[in-house]
Amino acid sequence: MERFKFITQKNFDELPKTSGVYCLASPKLKGEGGFEVIYIGKAINIKSRVKNHFQQPSYRDNLFIDKVSKIGYLETNSEIEALILEANLIKKYQPKFNVVWKDDKNYFYVAITQDKCPIVYITHQPFGSAQGKPKLLTTNYSLQTKYIGPFVEGTALKKTLKYLRRAFPYYTSKKHPKTKCTWCHLGLCPGPRLFEARLDSPTGEAANLRKEYKNNLKKLALILQGKRSAVLNSLKREMAQFSKESKFEEAGKIRDRIYNLQQIMAHSIVIENSKATQESNVGDIFAKVECYDISNIQGKFATGSMVVFVNGESDKSQYKKFKIRLMDTPNDIAMLREVLERRFNHPEWKYPEVILIDGGKAQLNIAIKVKNKLPIKIISIAKGRQELFIEGQKNPIPLKLLPQNIYNLILQLDSEAHRFAITYHKKLRKKNLLQ
Ligand SMILES: [Zn+2]
Repeated sequence: MERFKFITQKNFDELPKTSGVYCLASPKLKGEGGFEVIYIGKAINIKSRVKNHFQQPSYRDNLFIDKVSKIGYLETNSEIEALILEANLIKKYQPKFNVVWKDDKNYFYVAITQDKCPIVYITHQPFGSAQGKPKLLTTNYSLQTKYIGPFVEGTALKKTLKYLRRAFPYYTSKKHPKTKCTWCHLGLCPGPRLFEARLDSPTGEAANLRKEYKNNLKKLALILQGKRSAVLNSLKREMAQFSKESKFEEAGKIRDRIYNLQQIMAHSIVIENSKATQESNVGDIFAKVECYDISNIQGKFATGSMVVFVNGESDKSQYKKFKIRLMDTPNDIAMLREVLERRFNHPEWKYPEVILIDGGKAQLNIAIKVKNKLPIKIISIAKGRQELFIEGQKNPIPLKLLPQNIYNLILQLDSEAHRFAITYHKKLRKKNLLQ
């Protein structure tokens, strides 16, 4: 309990709006003194999630909410960290009210088999039925399999594993074709070569690959147990060692793995829950979105386009074209500003929830300035670097780490805006030639 920071009784405003884990505690029974953690949860926005327990208690919350006299929290840098920390703290404290409404069948564990060519999978039943009713909420080894958990949310765990699989490719099946499988092509599978290492005493390359694979799985397990820094440090040591031996290709591979892992841990969006999703930055993108694009050749016949998507579908009746009035200045940012200023002169065009623009931080900042204080989220797509800047977030998110549906929508919006701007631009040029 020492790691939690506590707020003074129900002063919710003292809670951070960041992702993390929170605990609700009540005084221990008479004579014992001190406090007991009775519930642990994770959140994308700690403040709003905790407030929600008290202000709109579910029937489950009503079982214990009046017993709560202390609220603690731990901030995390990302959703994945919150997910992992939650599992580890539930395991440590075994809070009564986490247990009450979740029996062992409802929790999720990551299983890693401990055989010659291990596989990784998610399971509800860590120790199998043959061994009798398992002790609830424990992580343990059985002879053949290592189990890590308990995780509360299956979908979030699945997404987390899917992301981590990019840094640490693994097998999910005991069989592998002789040639590359679908997962191989996605860089998520260690490949057919290593599978030959299922032989009892593999030699040469296969033996090395098997060793490397087991080493990676150990790291994956450590990450899921909240020991990210230990893994990063160990990777850094391995990289240094390879460099020392002038094995630069191997050192480079580890450098990429470190980078990949850091990106995954910091930016992946994995937690889903209706309330929290609304507060996450791209969660409600499916309502009304406007996307802008500027098209010009050296500033001549510059045009701007605005395309509109409602609930994920384009609505051509709401599209607008702008003939840029700024004269012959090939200045994309000034043109974007002009288009947006003109758009905001039309409050009768219903405002969107989200505006997507093409560009980086500079474009993002201009748009934020122009929309003034309107409650519209601005995001900008930096295609060169494959990153998404989001208003209010310091660092961009790599596009490939977005949830698939949002990733698809953003690319669709962007290409539609571009298509629409080019069409209009060509029309203006043609008209000019005819004159
Ligand atoms: Zn494969």
